[in-house]
Amino acid sequence: MANFNDLINIIKINQQMKDEDLFIIGEAYKFAENAHRAQKRISGEDYIQHSLKVAIILAKMKSDFITIAAGLLHDVPEDTNFTLQDIEKVFGKEISSLVEGITKLGKIKYRGIVRYAENLRKMFIAMAADIRTILIKLADRIHNLKTINALPHYKQQRIALETLEIYSPIANRLGIGKMRDVLENLAFPIVYPQEYEWVKTIISEKILAKEKYLKEIQVIIKEKIQNENIKIINCAGRIKKPYSLWKKLQKYNNDISKIYDLIALRIIVENISDCYIVLGIIHNLWKPLSDRIKDYIAKPKPNHYQSIHTTVFCEKGEIVEFQIQTLEMFKESEYGVAAHWYYKEKENILDKKLSWVKELVKWQKEIEDNTQYLKFLKSDIFQNRIFVFTPKGDVIDLPEDSTPIDFAFHIHTDLGNKCVRAKINDRIVNLDAKLKNGDVVEIIIDKNRKKPSPDWLKFVKTNLAYQRIKKEINK
Ligand code: MN
Repeated sequence: MANFNDLINIIKINQQMKDEDLFIIGEAYKFAENAHRAQKRISGEDYIQHSLKVAIILAKMKSDFITIAAGLLHDVPEDTNFTLQDIEKVFGKEISSLVEGITKLGKIKYRGIVRYAENLRKMFIAMAADIRTILIKLADRIHNLKTINALPHYKQQRIALETLEIYSPIANRLGIGKMRDVLENLAFPIVYPQEYEWVKTIISEKILAKEKYLKEIQVIIKEKIQNENIKIINCAGRIKKPYSLWKKLQKYNNDISKIYDLIALRIIVENISDCYIVLGIIHNLWKPLSDRIKDYIAKPKPNHYQSIHTTVFCEKGEIVEFQIQTLEMFKESEYGVAAHWYYKEKENILDKKLSWVKELVKWQKEIEDNTQYLKFLKSDIFQNRIFVFTPKGDVIDLPEDSTPIDFAFHIHTDLGNKCVRAKINDRIVNLDAKLKNGDVVEIIIDKNRKKPSPDWLKFVKTNLAYQRIKKEINK
């Protein structure tokens, strides 16, 4: 059981909050406690425990006071005699419209594919209006998963699968690594119990086998870095999470020997130039594997993850991956846009990070069929992503295995219609060539061409390109 003081303590550990903001959180708690009085969850707990735990999860994510207060109130309009108007009267428009965003999405009841798809459409519109809606939704989902044992088996399955297909990918694309990991750790064993046990065994065996060795490596590298007068903020093994390892294993035919980053050594330093010096020190000590150096500092991942990764032939010929980043980059990859500092100081960065949500809201209007829409979400929005460049250097972010045709239709239907040839990194390629991270893609057009080729439907990767081509052909 948690109580209100636990929430306050967690807020104080994670951020400096003004007294007047803490006061509002206190009022929100009293309001919610009174509204949910005598109500119980299916698990038998007092209902307020759920609201409180959702708020605690948000506080751990360093969310702002508005989000935490709305988290406390998120189930009031749907489950009690108090209305949204009552909340607005006491707490104002900002908090009440966040609660409204959550209320509109409704409870986790499943009423067929149409209602389901419509709910998701609404959710993305609410996200585009205020991203904090989804933070509360994610925190709500985390606590629901933690108490899922109270539900019948088939409901557990559905909720956990939906978590892996929709909610953890959203957390990932928002760059909130901590929430993504918690969601996946909770949902993976429910959906795939055997696979989970298998992967967990692999991980614990590897840790046992490598622990002593990695300690030795840490001693060597720490000494070398300190000799260069560079301050190490942290140097520790980073163990891959079970769900992420399982997904990677599937890509490599379950061959564990192909996976080099099961345990990586993460080194956190003070600033960017130190990151590159540390990279130099590592490469001076051990030979890097070719094609395994990834500079996500110069070229961040589509979800804005930043770090330098390199894999080397380390002591005794063992292969080890190193990850080097600053403390700021580390925090950013854990909390991303959940953190309170975005809502006052970094609004323009926030806009940039959320541009994909606005694009998604635009595209979803195009795809009226709900089955197609769900396919589009899974294939176009939540697949592993790559980023490629236009000849002018604009970054375009696409799902893995996209082709030049996907690229062209992503930019504009007209560009796709007129496409006759494509160049990747200045070389002419087939239109079904697979794009790779960092490629520069140029589309060569024929101005007189009006319609796409039906053949393209056979190989395009994105549902958006598929839909746009179909529409054009049928015109
Ligand atoms: Mn709830």
